[in-house]
Formats: sequence, structure tokens, C-alpha cells
Amino acid sequence: MLMSTRVLLHTQLTVAIMQTDTDVIIIGAGPAGLTAARKLSEHAIDYLLLSRESTPGKDKPCGGYLPLRAFTDLQIRPFNGCHPVRAVRMKFSGREVVQVDFDKAAGYNVARDSLGGHLLKLIDNHSKHVQMKSLVTAISIGGDGCTVTVRDNEGVRDLHSELVIDCSGTTPVSIKTSLVRERLSPTAMGYANQFYYEREASQESFEPVNEFYYGPEFSPHGYAWIFPRGHVAVVGTGGLASEVRRSEKRLTDYLNHLVNDTEPARTELAGATLVRRDAGLMPLAGIVRPSYSERIMLAGDAAAHCSPITGEGIHYSAIAGRLAAETAIEAVEDQDFSKKRLRSYEQAWTRAIGSDLRWGLWLQKRLMHGGSSEIGGSLLASKKTTRVIAEMILGNRSVRSAILAVAPSYLKSKLLRH
Ligand SMILES: Cc1cc2nc3c(=O)[nH]c(=O)nc-3n(C[C@H](O)[C@H](O)[C@H](O)COP(=O)(O)OP(=O)(O)OC[C@H]3O[C@@H](n4cnc5c(N)ncnc54)[C@H](O)[C@@H]3O)c2cc1C
Repeated sequence: MLMSTRVLLHTQLTVAIMQTDTDVIIIGAGPAGLTAARKLSEHAIDYLLLSRESTPGKDKPCGGYLPLRAFTDLQIRPFNGCHPVRAVRMKFSGREVVQVDFDKAAGYNVARDSLGGHLLKLIDNHSKHVQMKSLVTAISIGGDGCTVTVRDNEGVRDLHSELVIDCSGTTPVSIKTSLVRERLSPTAMGYANQFYYEREASQESFEPVNEFYYGPEFSPHGYAWIFPRGHVAVVGTGGLASEVRRSEKRLTDYLNHLVNDTEPARTELAGATLVRRDAGLMPLAGIVRPSYSERIMLAGDAAAHCSPITGEGIHYSAIAGRLAAETAIEAVEDQDFSKKRLRSYEQAWTRAIGSDLRWGLWLQKRLMHGGSSEIGGSLLASKKTTRVIAEMILGNRSVRSAILAVAPSYLKSKLLRH
């Protein structure tokens, strides 16, 4: 009698403990998810990456600029499809265009499907662990594990893991059930439109220069850009979603003004064909916490790991993806997936990229308040400060060090004016 009660208890317990399909489920094959997968694969951790598109990066709206610093940090080399950026041009309204040249490439412009394909190739045994065309519709978390509901060509099914790393972009899957954080407000989210122009194969490539246009004629309190890559130039504009909504002009009106009425953009794009348009969101919120909870971490845009000042997030997202994976490795080794255990992830990304997010938001508020043209005009008055600004917007100088370097000149110009 005693014996059979034990057997029964044992059976009930085994039923109650969730059977996991894998240790870690990563959602999203952007830079954050793919970099997390690369790290887990190096440590032979059992994981599954699920992403909805057919190939990584396909159709992702993005300028595709990556600073040189990103290649060093992520231990990757420029690959086929990377187009060097050798100079930057900046235009503030009512002022002449200024150009800063660099001795070597300051960074690279790359199509997002090329970047996605390259990051995928760096993952050992990716065909076993990465499942594309897999839409995650829900995540639920209990004391004994995570349940991820996925719709793929086999239908709808539940997969179980010890841990989830949600890298599913600006509006992450986990937000539906507020597992970690709430939705960002339109004052903390950016929105941008892009036109893609292409030159004929018989024509020369676009010049390897990234351009930035500041002022109210180019965007609603944001900026416009041209990022060329060979025969393609990505022309975009955007601003905080709240400002885009409030603006009387549509973003496409700003783009048309840039392309048709503004030099040097007009001459550069003359004769090129508009081949594609897209639009997308980007978090411009600074440091957003929390980025983790029991059995789950958010990385990349999902955790607002994107520069509030430039809207560039590939580099930061990839760093955060790697750090989330490092914490996941330790959690799997210790079999501890508690909130307390995962706290080290938030500490790690705050150390690595928190300063740029914090100071970027600080600068964003100043530019919104003071007007980018007014501030920019006084900063571009000297060659030294112009170079500092160029290095910062190209992502090779920290925001804090740029602010410290230009502060004396900025204050001097303000005092002289009053
Ligand atoms: C117009 C525009 C221009 C930009 N230009 C630049 C630039 O030049 N340089 C730069 O550094 N940054 C730029 N950014 C920002 C950059 O694109 C992001 O910061 C970066 O892509 C974030 O990477 P991520 O991996 O966090 O998310 P993403 O790259 O957005 O990847 C999210 C992944 O999750 C998948 N996914 C989403 N939902 C689900 C679901 N339910 N189920 C399964 N999979 C799902 C998606 O398919 C995708 O694979 C730009 C953004 C925009 C909108």
C-alpha cells in the first residue's frame, strides 16, 4: 500500500514538471537574436531561435549603417556587401554643407539581408537551431518553465524551454502580456520613412559619404539621411512618433523636398530610380528598465537598445544579444533562472551601452528644445567640433565624450551671442 502511494506521488510529480524541448528559446533573427545564438552555439548550449521572416533581415526597414567600432566589438570583419563610408556631410538649415573626411573607413553601409545572412553563417550548426518562418504568437512563464506558442508550416504548437530571450524588435512579443515591460509612448518611439534609389549598373557607384540633414525643412525635430551602398542610396527621414503625428507635413513630403529641392542630394540622386519605400519604428527612449524578469530577458530594440540621438541600434542590439546569451549560459549551468540570477544581464548592458543611451537621451531633449539648427550651427563653426560631431553621429565616439569635447565651444558661442 505504502509502495503504491509512492509510485503514484512520483508519477504526479513527473507530470507536474514541464518537459522542456530546449534550454533557451530566442525570438527574432535580427542582430540581437543572431548574436545571442552565436554566443550560445560557442558554448554548446541547447537552444532554438524562432523568427517569422523567411531569411534573416529580409525586408527590415533600416539604413544599414554600422560603425567601425561595431566590427571590433562583435569580432566580425567587413564582408561581401559592406560598403565603406569614408566621409560624412552635415547640413543645418540656412548653412553651408560641411564635410569631414576620414583616413580609413569610419564604418560600413550594408543591406540588412546581407548582414542577416552573414550573422547567420557565424552561428555553428545554425540549420539545427535556427527556424525561420516561425511566428511566435504568445509566451507564458510559470515556475517550472516557459511556453512559447509558435505558428509555422507544421501548424500551431507549444514549445517549452527553461528561458526565453525576446529579441523580437520594437514591439516585442512579450509586451502583449506585459511579461517584462509596458509599451513605449510615442514620445519615446521614433518613426521613419525611407526611399531607396538605384543607379543603372552602367553608371558610377554613389560616393562613399553618409549625409545628415538637420532642420525643420528636413524632418519633424529629427533628421534626414542618405546612406549609399554601391548603386543604391537609402534616403530617410524621421523623428519622435509624437512629433511625426503632430507635423502638418507627411514624412514623404520631407523626403521629396530633400530629393527634389536640396543640394547636394538633388544632384546626387538625379537620374537614379526610386525602387522601394519602407517605414519603421525605432525606440528612442534612453535607458528602459526592467529588461528581464523571471526566466526571460529582452535584448535589442525589444529593450530599447537603440541610440536616442541617431536611431542607430544594430551595434547596441548585437552587444545586448551577446550579453543576454552570456547570462543565459551561466543560468543554464547553475540551473537558476530566477529574476535575481538574471539581474546581472541588466547590469552588464548598462555598463556596456548605458552611457550612450543615457547621454543620447539628454542630448535629444536639448536638440528638441534648442533646435538642432541653432545648436548645430554654433558647433559646426570650428573644425575641431565639427569632427567631434561627425565621429559621434557615425557611432565611433561616445556621446558623453562628444558632449564634453564640444561643451566649451558651445558655451563660448552662446556667451558671445548674448
Ligand atoms: C528606418 C530605420 C532606419 C534605421 N537605420 C539604422 C542604421 O542605419 N543603423 C543602425 O544601426 N540602426 C538603424 N536602425 C535601427 C535598427 O534597425 C535596429 O535598432 C535593429 O535592427 C535592432 O535589432 P534587433 O535585433 O533588436 O531587432 P530587429 O532587427 O527588428 O529584429 C527583430 C526580429 O524579430 C522578428 N520577430 C518580430 N516579431 C516576431 C514574432 N512575433 N515571431 C517571430 N519573430 C518575430 C523579426 O522578424 C526580426 O527578425 C534603423 C531603424 C529604422 C526603423
